[in-house]
Amino acid sequence: MLDAAPTQSLSPDVLITTSLVEIFSAIQGEGVNVGTRQIFIRFGGCDLRCRFCDSAHTWHPKDTCRIEQTPGLRDFKTVPNPVSMPQILDWVVQQNQPRLHDSISLTGGEPLLQADFLQRLLPLIRGGSHLPIYLETGGHRPQDLQKLLPFLDLVGMDLKLPSVSGETHWLAHTKCLQLCQQERLDVFCKVIIAQQTDPNDLQQVMQTVGMINPEIPVYLQPVTPLPQSSLQTPTPAQVLQWQADLKQQLKTVRVIPQTHKMLDQL
Ligand code: SF4
Repeated sequence: MLDAAPTQSLSPDVLITTSLVEIFSAIQGEGVNVGTRQIFIRFGGCDLRCRFCDSAHTWHPKDTCRIEQTPGLRDFKTVPNPVSMPQILDWVVQQNQPRLHDSISLTGGEPLLQADFLQRLLPLIRGGSHLPIYLETGGHRPQDLQKLLPFLDLVGMDLKLPSVSGETHWLAHTKCLQLCQQERLDVFCKVIIAQQTDPNDLQQVMQTVGMINPEIPVYLQPVTPLPQSSLQTPTPAQVLQWQADLKQQLKTVRVIPQTHKMLDQL
């Protein structure tokens, strides 16, 4: 038993812990990887408060997390937080059945809040799973992103529209995109849009991405309405107009709603 072992005999990695929400296997419903199968590692804690957030249960670290035992069966077991690196590695190995998954998704919450932990964990996960590592982030913590660049294969970065999210992080978004560009790391931007979208915010998206590399793909994601939010799904006319506007300067602008919600997935 881990708890009973003398501290000095343990691997240092056992002593470094993090707060998880869950690990499970599912079909990615957003962005470049839409439709692919991923092992999701969802971390606890977020420092933003987006109006459209469908993961408010992740904002504060919890006493326990849940770990799927068989990929896709939702046969979760409950485990106390915090958890160690060897535990996470074991759970990923358990999920990683041959030819099932396309990549591993680091999600949250905001995974970059755990950057120091991930700096140690990711080389081990990469070596053990041989799967590409995909980071989902709010794109507002460039110093933490910088620590992880060597261990990532793809970054999905939110550009938060102030009129929709209630958050404003243009400078940090710019720095995060610059870092990915300098590292030649694949990155795409996700922009949640609603009827309430201010077109000036989309102009800012065009300038921010266009200034760094107009070939960075941008995914416009119509908001999924939540009972507690006044945000409404944009009209077809709005979506068509906004895509046309962005395509004036950006090469790839796609519109994709959250497909995992259509499949009634997690
Ligand atoms: S960054 Fe993500 S998890 Fe955090 S509040 Fe925004 S949508 Fe929710």
